[in-house]
Amino acid sequence: MRTIGHFIDNTPVAPASGRYAPVFDPATGQQPARVGLASAAEVDAAVAAARAAYASWRTVPLARRTALLFRYRELLDARRDELARLITAEHGKVHADALGEVARGLEIVELACGIPQHLKGQLSTQVSSGVDVASIRQPLGVVAGITPFNFPAMVPLWMFPLALACGNTFVLKPSEKDPSAALRLVELAAEAGFPEGVLNAVNGDREAVERLLAHPEVAAVSFVGSTPVARAIQRGAVEHGKRVQALGGAKNHMLVLPDADLDVAADNAINAAYGSAGERCMAVSVVVAVGSIGDALVERIARRAAALRIGPGEDPASEMGPLITAEHRAKVASYVTGAREQGARVVVDGTGYTVPGHEEGFFLGVSLLDGVTPEMDAYRDEIFGPVLCVVRAGSYEEGLALINASPWGNGTAVFTRDGGAARRFQLEVEAGMVGVNVPIPVPVGHHSFGGWKDSLFGDQHIYGEDGVRFYTRGKVITSRWPDPADGGINLGFPSGH
Ligand code: NAD
Repeated sequence: MRTIGHFIDNTPVAPASGRYAPVFDPATGQQPARVGLASAAEVDAAVAAARAAYASWRTVPLARRTALLFRYRELLDARRDELARLITAEHGKVHADALGEVARGLEIVELACGIPQHLKGQLSTQVSSGVDVASIRQPLGVVAGITPFNFPAMVPLWMFPLALACGNTFVLKPSEKDPSAALRLVELAAEAGFPEGVLNAVNGDREAVERLLAHPEVAAVSFVGSTPVARAIQRGAVEHGKRVQALGGAKNHMLVLPDADLDVAADNAINAAYGSAGERCMAVSVVVAVGSIGDALVERIARRAAALRIGPGEDPASEMGPLITAEHRAKVASYVTGAREQGARVVVDGTGYTVPGHEEGFFLGVSLLDGVTPEMDAYRDEIFGPVLCVVRAGSYEEGLALINASPWGNGTAVFTRDGGAARRFQLEVEAGMVGVNVPIPVPVGHHSFGGWKDSLFGDQHIYGEDGVRFYTRGKVITSRWPDPADGGINLGFPSGH
């Protein structure tokens, strides 16, 4: 069995704690690897490497930093297929989807290549007689990134390219469920020529995360994962005086108005609910059908759901792969059973599904629940699997109130042909990312990604301009170059006149 370790100072480091977690191939249920779970001492070694590298990395000219980022971009571009295969092997998502993930991550590397534009300061001349004021942004120091299993390459790429571009050094703690793609990203940065210690990876679980939160040399923490952990990460980071952005879970609603094209809406609901087996923080997990369209929409979604091809992610014929673990599959399936007991209509039941030849794989069919109400567990919890709930609403206002009552506020979408209704929704809905006839409105790299309410703890969203602000701190310099004749004593507060 392969053992996955850490990568510190541009060198592979064997795990030393004696604790391991299994890494599965979800399509077969086999365990081809185990990953070492770092002790506090192993985390300290990575932070020490990053701290030592920071002293010089922060002074490396922008031209050199961007040259390295451009080289890194080219390396990743050439390795898209290899990275996608690593993702599929441990996460299970289909190859085309994994390629999409790599492409969306590359977007942030490309954003980072343009960092000189984003780090331009501001200058006001002659604010007082002979006085100029400049605002500049400087790096923070060592930044830690803690990432979830569901985008093992994209989410790390949301973080470290921009953090490095801004002059920080970085310690990445990938998900222990599928660490290989993230580890490969870090190895490729070494290959691109980033100096030793600038980008490091330690694998681990809660113990490693808690050490990163407590470590006095870690200046800031970027986290993406589930809401309970995100909330705890924010508290822990604040307690230790660190800057933090902690992105959490979601329950994303798609509001379908009576005038919408129902075939378009059904196609989009299918793609957004069942893509990546529903293991996306921007998955649509609730369709809110407004007015009398409910039956027609459910019938269209059900017809499409029954035709989906589920199988191993590496098979080009598969449209949806397995779930991440057997435990997660059992939990997701329990929501379908529970919803039936709580009064929902199970229109499509995927719980008994198996893929011939892959009986040990963590496969689950897709499920469609109709007549779901806000009290049901299937509505209240983030299921994070291929289960789509349909809630009926009598009016736009009723649908909007339902969405705004949700504790989460990551993404949401409206499907309509009425521009006025769509505009009203954009302004009235309480979520950080809104799609208009776009079911998964993940912002492009030069805009920032982030939810509201329990979907994000912290102030700055991730990547885009917010990312640059998060990974830098402001400094304002007021300067005067006096002529010797300009001296004199004046104890008054400078007023600028
Ligand atoms: P998770 O919260 O279980 O794990 C995320 C990271 O935190 C992992 O690196 C894990 O090792 C670590 N971790 C887990 N438990 C911990 C604990 N008790 N203390 C400290 N660290 C801990 O999340 P996951 O299951 O890997 O990922 C799925 C979740 O992430 C879903 O809720 C999904 O919505 C969310 N997510 C959110 C976004 C977003 O942008 N908002 C993006 C992707 C995923």
